[in-house]
Amino acid sequence: MTSELLVYIDGEYYPKSQAKISVYDHGFLYGDGVFEGIRAYNGLVFKLKEHVDRLYRSAHAITLKIPLSKEEMAQAVIETLRKNKMKDSYIRLIVSRGIGDLGLDPRKCPKASIIIITDTISIRAGNAAETGVTAMFSWVRRNPVDATTHEIKSLNYLNSILAKIEANANGVDEAICLESNGVIAEGVGENIFIVKEGELLTPPTSTGALAGITAQVVTELCKRLGLKLTTADLTPFMVFTADEAFFTGTAMEVIPIREVNKRVIGEGKPGPITKKLVAEFHKEIAKSTNGTKI
Ligand code: PMP
Repeated sequence: MTSELLVYIDGEYYPKSQAKISVYDHGFLYGDGVFEGIRAYNGLVFKLKEHVDRLYRSAHAITLKIPLSKEEMAQAVIETLRKNKMKDSYIRLIVSRGIGDLGLDPRKCPKASIIIITDTISIRAGNAAETGVTAMFSWVRRNPVDATTHEIKSLNYLNSILAKIEANANGVDEAICLESNGVIAEGVGENIFIVKEGELLTPPTSTGALAGITAQVVTELCKRLGLKLTTADLTPFMVFTADEAFFTGTAMEVIPIREVNKRVIGEGKPGPITKKLVAEFHKEIAKSTNGTKI
């Protein structure tokens, strides 16, 4: 028996230290592939169906044929968690174009590779939900919708990484990515919401932002709580002058933003609507109707 985590690769399980892919895999050579980040909380995989559906939509957009049905894929995720006896996990589901030659032509890759990692993630300070995070607008413009758009959750994340490098260099927690015309797209791996005079605003996915599953949960919560939420182009000015702002994402969860480019947002601490949504989000996580049992 090994105490190492097991990683699923193409139907087999390998200890983490031996979980390796070919250097000829086009996911590695060219970023040719798609992925999902999913969380399991207390024995329930949160919104598994929604994540699997999005994975298949991303794959369809890049003409990547996944050699498993959606049901088999969901089952493989559950099985990997069971094998690792994990009730709480951050799951990384990757489908790469597979092994080819050194040319980029995807036709050279006869079979997509599926990788499932069930591990944990730590991308923010533990008290960020109470204190909020700092952020800055990055000079790196988001890939436009007619390029490697972030509507596709592809393995091309250099755009986000460049923005994150800038945030790191400036000593702030997160970066906010703008479209080429200057309107706000999203965070590096999160969607963004602002609150102004009791109403919420979030950018449309036509900015090339990913249709976030956490954002969808927040949208449903707003409906249930009777909060007005509008999808609209947001400018940096609108963010600077918002009463509240927050990010949403699977890894990040729902996290208040307290400062952007050194401008204090609202009171500089989580506002009442953000706090309410953070609390309600955590209730959603625990509901069996939102999860698939491990
Ligand atoms: N935008 C991008 C670019 C992302 O990578 C993510 C993380 N998947 C999100 C937004 C948030 O999406 P979700 O809530 O589905 O995790």
